[in-house]
Amino acid sequence: MAHNLETLTRHSFPESGEFFAVVSPLNNNSITSLPEISAEQLEGKIKAVSDAFPSWSARTAQERADVLQKWHGLILENKDVLVEIMHKESAKLKRECEAEVKYAAAFVDEYATQAVKPRGDELETGEVVYQSIGAVAAITPWNFPAAMITRKVSPALAAGCTVICKPAEKTPLTAIALLNLAREAGIGEGVFELVLGDAKMIGKKICASNDIKKLSFTGSTAVGKILMRQCADTVKKVTMELGGNAPFIVLKDADLDEAAEAAVQSRFKFSGQVCVSSNRFLVAQEVHDEFLQKVLAKVEELEIAPLISKDAAQNVESLVQGAVAEGANLICGSGKCDGNVFEPTILTGVTENMEIFATEIFGPVMTFVKFDSVERAIEMANNTHYGLAAFVYGGAANEVAKKLNFGMVGANSLAISNPKTPFGGMNQSGIGREGSHFGIEEYYEVKFIAK
Ligand code: ADP
Repeated sequence: MAHNLETLTRHSFPESGEFFAVVSPLNNNSITSLPEISAEQLEGKIKAVSDAFPSWSARTAQERADVLQKWHGLILENKDVLVEIMHKESAKLKRECEAEVKYAAAFVDEYATQAVKPRGDELETGEVVYQSIGAVAAITPWNFPAAMITRKVSPALAAGCTVICKPAEKTPLTAIALLNLAREAGIGEGVFELVLGDAKMIGKKICASNDIKKLSFTGSTAVGKILMRQCADTVKKVTMELGGNAPFIVLKDADLDEAAEAAVQSRFKFSGQVCVSSNRFLVAQEVHDEFLQKVLAKVEELEIAPLISKDAAQNVESLVQGAVAEGANLICGSGKCDGNVFEPTILTGVTENMEIFATEIFGPVMTFVKFDSVERAIEMANNTHYGLAAFVYGGAANEVAKKLNFGMVGANSLAISNPKTPFGGMNQSGIGREGSHFGIEEYYEVKFIAK
């Protein structure tokens, strides 16, 4: 059926008496309010996904693939409405929303294909069997309101798992729209459920439940650590996609036009509110000033979205002001926020000992650090507890990439993330991988049957 914003965001969540407002960062007006789930209602949803597991996992892989293919088709058919919803609740630029909807749909397509791939092994001594892990949970962030859901839910469903998902309360409408399209595709009640409300309460209950066999989380490292602790009591399997502090290294022989274009894209996509966004620009001293000029020319023409909230913008402001107080030079932008608006900003003269060097900025701020040898660049790049994404431009990009402790490295490329490649971090950026066959394998137990 052809949808509009209203029909695609209809819901039948049970009333609990408590509501939360969904606010548009485009104008800070309330879009709607939604009921918060009560603890008792949440227990009911956990039971529903657990009860639905035996029949969903007993379906043939081909049946599950067919249902996922339908969902994929419906997401693409409703792309324009999804873009409208996502733009309104996240302020993400419409062209970026469109790219995200396609990216989100591509995960569903990938896992429809992965669902029917034979897995396991016949050994002389017995058989290795892949068994669906059970009912699982997903907790997702607001910066990719659609893709973080499909990247978790579609491999889980493909593997025969049922899913309870708690999307970010800042962007619940895209999640509701995806749920409605899933229902239309034949993904029934209990197979995929959404819960919204008090994140702490929901997180605690999901982690404590013996009926939930796995948690996949994308969000901040701080919350990831809390959830891992809470999962310890049930020894729950976890996949964690956490924060990043991506270095972007410009070697002295890099094509500076290409590198400047990539640097600006990588930093300013969704105003820098992306975990793989380049956070530290390490530039060979021989080309530093020329590269900076090329970047500045591009930044002047930029159109960027307001940040998700006033608090987010204030955090960015305090990081920038802190860096200036520590001796960095503010050469573009006022260094101040206006509500939730923060202008594209460039700081030069940033050094390893500054707070901003160690922190995920999550905003439209480029920090420039000079280096005098490739070895120093590698050392500075690796000087972080994070390890999600890194980028290197120049002739030796491939060799440098091998020495970087990051889960994904773009060597003269920004294309580090697509449904057919493994996505995930080292160190405190996470555990496990999403995308490709690695993503679906997170939703199986591997069993050995000796003969
Ligand atoms: P961000 O900074 O991107 O908002 P968060 O880690 O705070 O990242 O949020 C990511 C997701 O985790 C959101 O869905 C949010 O509601 C949820 N969340 C935040 N705190 C908790 C918590 N204590 N327990 C469970 N989920 C949480």
